[in-house]
Amino acid sequence: MDLGLQGKVFIVTGGAKGIGEAISKLIAAEGGSVMIAGRSQADNQKTVDAIVAAGGKAAAVTAELGNPDDCKKVVAAAVESYGKIDGLINNAGANDGVGLENGSPEKFMQSLQHNLSHYYNLAHYALPYLKATKGNIVNIGSKVATTGQGNTSGYAASKGAINALTREWAVELLPFGIRVNTVIPAEVWTPLYETWINSLPDPAEKLAAITSKIPFEKRMTTSEEIANTTVFLLSGRSSHTTGQILYVDGGYTHLDRSIS
Ligand code: NAP
Repeated sequence: MDLGLQGKVFIVTGGAKGIGEAISKLIAAEGGSVMIAGRSQADNQKTVDAIVAAGGKAAAVTAELGNPDDCKKVVAAAVESYGKIDGLINNAGANDGVGLENGSPEKFMQSLQHNLSHYYNLAHYALPYLKATKGNIVNIGSKVATTGQGNTSGYAASKGAINALTREWAVELLPFGIRVNTVIPAEVWTPLYETWINSLPDPAEKLAAITSKIPFEKRMTTSEEIANTTVFLLSGRSSHTTGQILYVDGGYTHLDRSIS
């Protein structure tokens, strides 16, 4: 299936690692141009180099997305490099464990700044360009918004808000032909996930316990599987899909827990 991404331009936040890296690489493999936005220049450059070596088009901008001015800079960089924006993939975020007991009002607000505010800020600054191209937005959320996790109020609030904003923006942007959707991962093996599991007392035991509860094939979702759904949603092949929250999680969030 030709997704028709040739000549199109996409911003991918956190596009150098994990899920974002897989999205950046798939967009480029489909003929689109990528602007990676992330806080590590070295990580960004590594992924740009890999995409270019494979014959794709990519550039990067170093940005701490918790800073609104950096979000403005990301949009400017995409327009300067490519002249337009056809899609925004809001992906950067981290489960930072700011809980009720172990957190503080200041840490809670910081978590929102790092996990939520930039989703709004980038959509805000990119909007004139998305209107010009009838582009679209895909947000990456988390199952935590639906299931809770404990000890992660800031992240859960951010991801819950992202689900709400998906519907809100889908409605606000109807007149402009801009679609807005969210993809929900649950358990995906990425650098972030690896760091988290290795912080636990017995990582191997915990990993086995988690994968045993993933209904479909008892395995982690891959970043590429999240990217496949994300890029399909970005493409014109999803031309009548908007305001949707799609779970790419092997049934982890919703299927009957009594199944073995
Ligand atoms: P990852 O491996 O850490 O990759 C995320 C990338 O984004 C990293 O390069 C990271 O930089 C960058 N980044 C994060 N916050 C940033 C910020 N405020 N400013 C600039 N760059 C930032 O993470 P991932 O596992 O692929 O997660 C991607 C998305 O999926 C997140 O929104 C996460 O909440 C969601 N998700 C993941 C899972 C999972 O199982 N992996 C499950 C549910 C939801 P650094 O490396 O410097 O931090």
